[in-house]
Amino acid sequence: MEQRELLYEGKAKQLYRTSDPDVLIQHFKDDATAFNAKKRGTIVDKGILNNRMSEVLFRFLEEQGVPTHFVRRLNDRDMLVRACEIVKIEVVARNLVAGSLAKRLGKPEGELLPEPILEHFYKDDALDDPMINDWHIRYLKLATAHELSHINETALRVNALLREFLDQREIVLVDMKLEFGRHHGKLLLADEICPDTCRFWDKQSGEKLDKDRFRRDMGGVEDAYQEATRRICTAAA
Ligand code: UDP
Repeated sequence: MEQRELLYEGKAKQLYRTSDPDVLIQHFKDDATAFNAKKRGTIVDKGILNNRMSEVLFRFLEEQGVPTHFVRRLNDRDMLVRACEIVKIEVVARNLVAGSLAKRLGKPEGELLPEPILEHFYKDDALDDPMINDWHIRYLKLATAHELSHINETALRVNALLREFLDQREIVLVDMKLEFGRHHGKLLLADEICPDTCRFWDKQSGEKLDKDRFRRDMGGVEDAYQEATRRICTAAA
């Protein structure tokens, strides 16, 4: 697959056109940002690990009947993905209280939620990705009512599937951020699924195996990404 010009550059990834207008190359960088890029750094080999982990998780979801943008992994840092028009909504699915939910509702981190919670954020860096509801989504025309209900159903299904998959690998899926894209009129799960976009806690010790180690200057960031990758990319016991 011939790589053509850079189409888009984000904080952790680049997207390149290819000779086929229907597919793009998604390139994973080692750059890490937090707090809407106010904090910047590098996590050594993060791009390689996130590419592998995303491949395994997208493949698993496809096998379970969830349509994704993933086509195949090309090399260490590149995967081939279907070209999508990204829906400008970040969907967060939560199973335990953490991060901004703990702050917003004054609840302790780690409390188990009786049922998953879905939240929506407007994907707009200039506005700091504000939280939005169905009415805002309609007003901003970010998605139709039909698209939004499909997105919500799929997000809950992906959450249930990944929660079980990760549980078998001794990882608690605390929360995660999902993005969707339109491809020939169909909604596909897009972006990446990795410790940059999910909170992964060790099932026994509660140790963090995700980007919170970078956000909160906890150290052991690379080791945590390596360990999460090892567990996810190795068949469950
Ligand atoms: N998240 C993300 N990108 C963002 C914001 C959040 O991938 O721009 C992920 C984050 O890794 C976590 C989940 O979404 O798994 C919920 O994050 P939260 O709202 O708690 O935000 P935080 O306080 O971590 O910024």
